[in-house]
Amino acid sequence: MQDAKATANNAPRPPTVRFAPSPNGLLHVGHARSALLNARFARDHGGAFLLRIEDIDLTRARPEFEAAIFEDLAWLGLEWSAPVRRQSEHFADYEAALADLTRLELVYPAFLSRAEAAERVRDAEAAGRPWPRDPDGAPHYPGSDRTLSSAQRRRRIEDGEPHAWRLDMRAALAGLGAPLSWEEAGAGPRGETGLIAADPAAWGDVVLARRDVPTSYHLAVTVDDAIQGITDVIRGQDLFAATSVHRLIQQLLGLPAPRYRHHGLVLDKDGRKLSKSDGATSIASLREKGATPADIIRMAGLEPEPQA
Ligand code: GLU
Repeated sequence: MQDAKATANNAPRPPTVRFAPSPNGLLHVGHARSALLNARFARDHGGAFLLRIEDIDLTRARPEFEAAIFEDLAWLGLEWSAPVRRQSEHFADYEAALADLTRLELVYPAFLSRAEAAERVRDAEAAGRPWPRDPDGAPHYPGSDRTLSSAQRRRRIEDGEPHAWRLDMRAALAGLGAPLSWEEAGAGPRGETGLIAADPAAWGDVVLARRDVPTSYHLAVTVDDAIQGITDVIRGQDLFAATSVHRLIQQLLGLPAPRYRHHGLVLDKDGRKLSKSDGATSIASLREKGATPADIIRMAGLEPEPQA
């Protein structure tokens, strides 16, 4: 009995992967590349391809963009396993994760508005004090709220002061036993591959729950990858550096670490990453202009496959 169980547990698990677009614009050729790489990986390894709608930004997410995601993916010939996970239907899961981190005393209410935080950064830089920036180039959040007493925090929250919830990065790192890493089966923007040393400190005190939404991208993506049993995260290289934050949150919450396969981005003719705001490269507009699925697949840097 014991042996049978051990064998079953050791048998390689078929992979589960996901494509996780945000319905705040039309999908472009770069999204097609990501979706195709996920779907093909699942098929080639006898695994499951899931679809997750990352719609936590309630002001930008729109039902017509979600409908367009389904339409574009089906038109490309992709099939995904049900159910589709829509993040806006699972805020309670993210709130539970935030509560766990709060119990560990790793979270604090951050009261500075974006403008106030920017002003602190400007003042410091004007005074010749360099200010740390995250891998995306955004300045770290000023640490002043971290030192408020619990009575001060409570009073300001009770007074209705708007606040986000941020991770106390220093405290989180202090509690880690060993340095964090992840298995990169793709490559980072500078060709990094294999075992990658995570560097969450580079991000400063990241947002875990926004002022207007009870979660953030980092928290929701990490919780969902665990809940959906994602074994391999296949996504663009623009999210390579963010993996450090995801590994930290996984470690703090006791969640499993998937393997990561970051892929190269589709660039426009000026060498810039495609953007949702540039409608010209959307799958829908290319389709309207007569492109076939095979054309889009080639534009996404992949080979069309013969229809079975
Ligand atoms: N929702 C993210 C995006 O549209 C992708 C998240 C991920 O793959 O981890 O860029």
